[in-house]
Amino acid sequence: MNNSSRPSIAIAGAGLAGLCLAQSLHRAGIDVRVYERDSGPFARRQGYRITVDKDGRAALRRCVPPNLYELISTVAGAPGGYFRITNKDLRDAVTVRFDENIPDQAAVQMDRQTLRAILLRGLEDRVHFGKGAVGVEQDSSGAVLHLSDGGSTRADVVVGADGVGSVLRATTLPGHDPVDSGMYALYGRTPLRVRGRSMVPQALTSSGVLAIGDRPGRCMFFTSMRFGEQPSAAFRRLAPGHDAPVDDDYVMWGLVFSGADDPFPDQQPTSSQLHEFAVGLVGEFHSVAKELIAESQPEYTMKVKLTAAPRPRGWQMSRVTLVGDAVHAMPPLGAHGGNTALRDAALLAEKLEHAVAHGASLEHALSAYQDEMVPYAFQSVDEASKQLRRLTGSNPVQRWILLRALPRLHRATVS
Ligand SMILES: Cc1cc2nc3c(=O)[nH]c(=O)nc-3n(C[C@H](O)[C@H](O)[C@H](O)COP(=O)(O)OP(=O)(O)OC[C@H]3O[C@@H](n4cnc5c(N)ncnc54)[C@H](O)[C@@H]3O)c2cc1C
Repeated sequence: MNNSSRPSIAIAGAGLAGLCLAQSLHRAGIDVRVYERDSGPFARRQGYRITVDKDGRAALRRCVPPNLYELISTVAGAPGGYFRITNKDLRDAVTVRFDENIPDQAAVQMDRQTLRAILLRGLEDRVHFGKGAVGVEQDSSGAVLHLSDGGSTRADVVVGADGVGSVLRATTLPGHDPVDSGMYALYGRTPLRVRGRSMVPQALTSSGVLAIGDRPGRCMFFTSMRFGEQPSAAFRRLAPGHDAPVDDDYVMWGLVFSGADDPFPDQQPTSSQLHEFAVGLVGEFHSVAKELIAESQPEYTMKVKLTAAPRPRGWQMSRVTLVGDAVHAMPPLGAHGGNTALRDAALLAEKLEHAVAHGASLEHALSAYQDEMVPYAFQSVDEASKQLRRLTGSNPVQRWILLRALPRLHRATVS
């Protein structure tokens, strides 16, 4: 422990996992400091809407104070609805109904910026923006986190929550960089209502839709983000003095494609070039999908390379660990990445808080977290990778079943 004997934890990265962990440790009276590379909380787009499932909700409920959990639940979309896998014409092949009977466990849609704004509440003097992690060194009594401004900070434990491109992974888990799948995704957002008209047909407003293209390797998905209560009103009521970063309902869409079959025209494309590229990719899909992209805000278009992390083997016991995408990056299929990151945060918080309360070894706490995290997280990595292969692969039998046979068994949801 440090001189004050109050344990200190330094976290690199103020994303979902880093902030959720910091919330819990701060409530437990632990000296927690978060170092974030970005200059401010919304300096960069990090995706828009996120499906938070029962694991993610349980983690948030455990880590944040009750008033913030109430705010999270209030602004989240209504639970329930469907997930639909369709052909390019939006004819259903497979539909899954989300369970809404257990209110606190049902999957809900959350706006990511709103969730981050809530997770930052109460941590204002704990989170240091514009200070990226550049490396970490450890010894028997703690670790030193080196920062991009030339400074450094010593803590009893350092946690790498610095996302898929984690800098801390190189020293903590050398040789475990995520493996490139060769696939990319473009993401964007479109206002839910444009010129007074809903961009999504009534039948699909409470559905997540994943449409598979006729050309192997391509698929398109979209989901509406309809706030349960308008965030500005909910923040005024439950978090006065703080502004909601987003207030209007929107539709998040994504297009998955193969980088080899559809190479980007430019190495460093701008968001408007990415938007133009998306317009070209969506040509074969239903007019609802085409309109969503045509009417989207080009400046919000971003691209993500789809990768999957290799399973860690022989992870050494130490004073440094990793949470979230830093250790288990996975393709964004099945909505597991963020929920697993939140689950890690809650599990690591529990292990650290227990060790601190009982004067037990912090190294053992990290090791126990890693032993428990790896099986559930890498099951999700395997599932998401399998789903990516299944939905974008070229197996003719699977494709015939998904794109021709199954859609014939369902009535058209949209004309
Ligand atoms: C468009 C999109 C949609 C998605 N939808 C879902 C979904 O519906 N459900 C789901 O569960 N998952 C979803 N995911 C995946 C999910 O977003 C990630 O798995 C999740 O954000 C991982 O959380 P994290 O805290 O580990 O990393 P991040 O949220 O990426 O946070 C990492 C943070 O670290 C910071 N950082 C990076 N490098 C450094 C450094 N060197 N020093 C300090 N800070 C650094 C970054 O700026 C960032 O703030 C989606 C992803 C995308 C892109």
